[in-house]
Amino acid sequence: MSEPGFHTLLFHALYKDESHREMTHPFLYISLEELEGCIKVLLDNGYTFLDPAELGSCNGSGKDILLTFDDGYYDNYHALEVLEKYSIRALFFYVKQQIVEQKLFWWEVYFRNRITETSFRDVYEEMQELKKLPRARIESMLKERYGEDCFEPDDDLNRPMTVDELKRFAAHPLVEIGVHSASHEILTNCTREEVLHEMEGCKRFLEEVTEGSIPFISYPNGDFNDEVLAVAGDLGFEWGFTTLPGLNRRKRLGERSYRLSLRRNVFPVPNDDNNVVRQVEIFAEQNR
Ligand SMILES: [Zn+2]
Repeated sequence: MSEPGFHTLLFHALYKDESHREMTHPFLYISLEELEGCIKVLLDNGYTFLDPAELGSCNGSGKDILLTFDDGYYDNYHALEVLEKYSIRALFFYVKQQIVEQKLFWWEVYFRNRITETSFRDVYEEMQELKKLPRARIESMLKERYGEDCFEPDDDLNRPMTVDELKRFAAHPLVEIGVHSASHEILTNCTREEVLHEMEGCKRFLEEVTEGSIPFISYPNGDFNDEVLAVAGDLGFEWGFTTLPGLNRRKRLGERSYRLSLRRNVFPVPNDDNNVVRQVEIFAEQNR
């Protein structure tokens, strides 16, 4: 018998056109067909999907699943087809700067350029190293290397939603919106003031766009510390998401710091078996 609580799954970007598989980061992008495959596996294994707005009253079978998507890619629109088919509500996290400035994330710029020059393994390792630098430094390096306009989207692939798209998306009954940050700065590298700016800037923006209050936050790269949790609590966030894997225990949901550092299982799992449906099957079997 599973312990009472819920699991959260984290996805990022989606594509409908199979030809995009070769053009996109395999640990960030899955096809719409694969998303549906993952949902079917979970349903077949007796899982129930949680409504993000009702996390507090999760019945805690241990087979409850919350579906989340980070970063606010335009292509998350495709998810609606599958969510509508199975009547699942999901939680989508946004970065203010990408939406307002309509610019690509640095890892998209790096991936699309560098993958033409070397193997995915190299690109992946290099990106892990780059992540350690301040975002502004990475961005200026990439502009120097790939041109001033390298952050401008040239088509729908990789791009963030526009403000209007986000407004329409957020109004969909199966969509719940959460804060990711103002600029996807890694919060554990920031001063308290910067953490406040990253969280509050995005929260205000999204609350204006959606005309509602937003109790959800996911920390960029999943990174957090006590100060990050304290600022999130001060700003009125109720639910915070990391990328530590595992079950969120129902009996601890009453503790604020626990609620602000919830666990999420990232898919695809970054390993050589790049079959996300099989990975979710393994997850479902481990949690029987
Ligand atoms: Zn992110």
